[in-house]
Amino acid sequence: MKRDIPGHVKLIAVSKTHPAETVREAYDLGQRVFGENKVQELVSKAEQLPSDIEWHMIGHMQSNKIKYISRFVSLIHGVDSEGLLHKINNEGRKINRVIPCLLQVYIAEEETKFGFSPEELRILHGEGVTSELPFVEICGLMGMATFTDDFNQVRKEFRLLYSLFTELKAGYYKDKPSFREISMGMSNDYKIAIEEGSTMVRIGSALFGDRNYSK
Ligand SMILES: *Cc1c(COP(=O)(O)O)cnc(C)c1O
Repeated sequence: MKRDIPGHVKLIAVSKTHPAETVREAYDLGQRVFGENKVQELVSKAEQLPSDIEWHMIGHMQSNKIKYISRFVSLIHGVDSEGLLHKINNEGRKINRVIPCLLQVYIAEEETKFGFSPEELRILHGEGVTSELPFVEICGLMGMATFTDDFNQVRKEFRLLYSLFTELKAGYYKDKPSFREISMGMSNDYKIAIEEGSTMVRIGSALFGDRNYSK
């Protein structure tokens, strides 16, 4: 699977629900970037595993839990509200660390997914909110496509995310090279995501097998 991923695209190995030993095995094979969607699980694995691992928080983030990962998290993918942006900024200020984040965009036709709408993001930027957060570094956008076999639908949603990225980049981040990531693509759709301009794919089951939530 690694050969399907071009060098400019970062592979986030999504290790949620799998034990630290599984992460260790992938680490020993050379993987250094892992994604988790629960703060407690992320912290527990980070404590048990080598410190040169890059930990990415990919799930919905509760603002009262930022403090547990603020010192070491490499990237928070799922920033989906203005309130959360301010909370992250406050936590960053406390420890004097600029925390790298992605803004999650709602691109799917499903009720269950989190994120800003494209219009909300335009308003947020237009009002200057994103440029008034000295302890947040906005590194780009993240999105999840609809879970469907209709690959035209998936492609359309990834295109929407890509075009929103280009629009915001031109309007608000022209002189900010750190705004450069588009986190899109999972096990079932990462090839399409890469074709549509993804710079980070978040892949779990295609690497580690199916997750067993009942454990
Ligand atoms: C679980 C998860 C993934 C990985 O999903 P797979 O289908 O197992 O590759 C990617 N992104 C997010 C936000 C997730 O929660």
